[in-house]
Amino acid sequence: MVMVTDLFERPIRDLRISVTDRCNFRCIYCMPREVFGPDHRFLPREQLLTFSEIATLARVFVARGVQKVRLTGGEPLLRKGMERLVEMLAAIAGVDDLTLTTNGSLLARKAQSLVDAGLDRVTVSLDAMDDETFMAMNDVGFPVAVVLEAIEVASACGLGPVKVNCVVQRGINEHAILDMARHFKGSGHIVRFIEYMDVGSTNGWRLDQVVPAAEIVAAIHKVFPLEPVPPNYPGEVANRFRYRDGSGEIGVIASVTQPFCGSCTRARISAEGMLYTCLFASSGTSLRDVMRTGGDVARVLDEVWEKREDRYSEDRSAHTPRLVVPVEMSYIGG
Ligand code: SAM
Ligand code: SF4
Ligand code: SF4
Repeated sequence: MVMVTDLFERPIRDLRISVTDRCNFRCIYCMPREVFGPDHRFLPREQLLTFSEIATLARVFVARGVQKVRLTGGEPLLRKGMERLVEMLAAIAGVDDLTLTTNGSLLARKAQSLVDAGLDRVTVSLDAMDDETFMAMNDVGFPVAVVLEAIEVASACGLGPVKVNCVVQRGINEHAILDMARHFKGSGHIVRFIEYMDVGSTNGWRLDQVVPAAEIVAAIHKVFPLEPVPPNYPGEVANRFRYRDGSGEIGVIASVTQPFCGSCTRARISAEGMLYTCLFASSGTSLRDVMRTGGDVARVLDEVWEKREDRYSEDRSAHTPRLVVPVEMSYIGG
C-alpha cells in the first residue's frame, strides 16, 4: 500500500463518489428550485465518469488505504445500471464497506438487486415524519410513506441497520427531531440528525437557521433519556448516543458547531471526475481529464493530497463573509 498523508498528517481513508448531479427532489436546503429550475444545465452524459473510469479511480484510492466507499449524487439511483457499478466496486479487494446515500424514492424496487451486486449498507435521507413538512422540504410533494417503505425493504434485504439522515433547519422541521426519534426508537435503524450546513452558494444559509447538535440531543434526552457512546472508529463524523432503556441509538453530525476537520480523511469525486479534498472546496482537480489524456492518476492524487490543508469548518469564522464560492452539495454529494 502507498501511504500518503496531507499537511496535517491525515491519510485518505474514505472515498465518496457522486455518480450524477441530477435529482428528482428539490430539497430547499440543497437544490432550491429557483436555482435548479427547468433551465438548469446538468452535466452532459459524455462528461460523466463511466463506470469503468470510476472503478479505475477507486482502485487507485484503495491502493492508498481507502476501505470505505460511498456512492452518492444528486440522487445516485437515477443513474442507470447502478447495480453494475456496485458489482465492479464490490469486486475490488480492499473495499470493506460499500455504501450508498439515497433519498429513498427508488430504493424499494432496487434494494434486492443492489444487495445481490454487493452493496453493504444504505443511508436514506428523511427530514420529517409528516407529509406537510417533508413535502415542503423536498419541494416535489414526495410522500413520507414511500421513504419509510424503502427503509423497511432495504433493511429486510440485508442493507441494515439503515442510517436515516435528517437535516434540521430552524423554524422548518425542528418538530421532526422528536417525531423521528419516537418513530425509529426500537426499530434497529439509526437516525442521524445533521446540522444544516453552508454548503454551496444557492441555499441562502444563515447561522441562525442551524439547530446546534447539543440542542437536538437535549430535546430528545428530555423525553427519551440518552447517554453518549464511544465512536465506532477514530474520525467517525457522527457523535453517537444510545437510549438508556436499550432501545437503540441516534447520531448527531455537528459539522457547524463542533467541526471535525482534524480527523477528516475523506476524498470526494464529483460525477464528472473532479477530485475535491473538502466538502467546502471551491476548486478541484479533474482526475477524468488526467485519465482521458493517458496521465498518471496516482501521481496527481498523491500530489494533491500531499498539499491538502483543508479545514474549512474549523476556520468557518475566518471565512465569513465568504471570499470564495464553494461547490454545491447536489454536485459534490455530501
Ligand atoms: N440524494 C441523496 C440523498 O438525499 O440522500 C444523496 C445526495 S445528498 C446531497 C447527501 C446528504 O446530504 C443528504 O442526507 C442530504 O440531506 C444532505 N444535505 C444536503 N444539503 C445539506 C446541507 N446544506 N446541510 C446538511 N446536509 C445536507
Ligand atoms: Fe436531491 Fe439529496 Fe439534494 Fe435532496 S439532498 S435535493 S434528495 S441530492
Ligand atoms: Fe473535512 Fe472540509 Fe468538512 Fe473539515 S470542512 S471536516 S476538512 S470536509
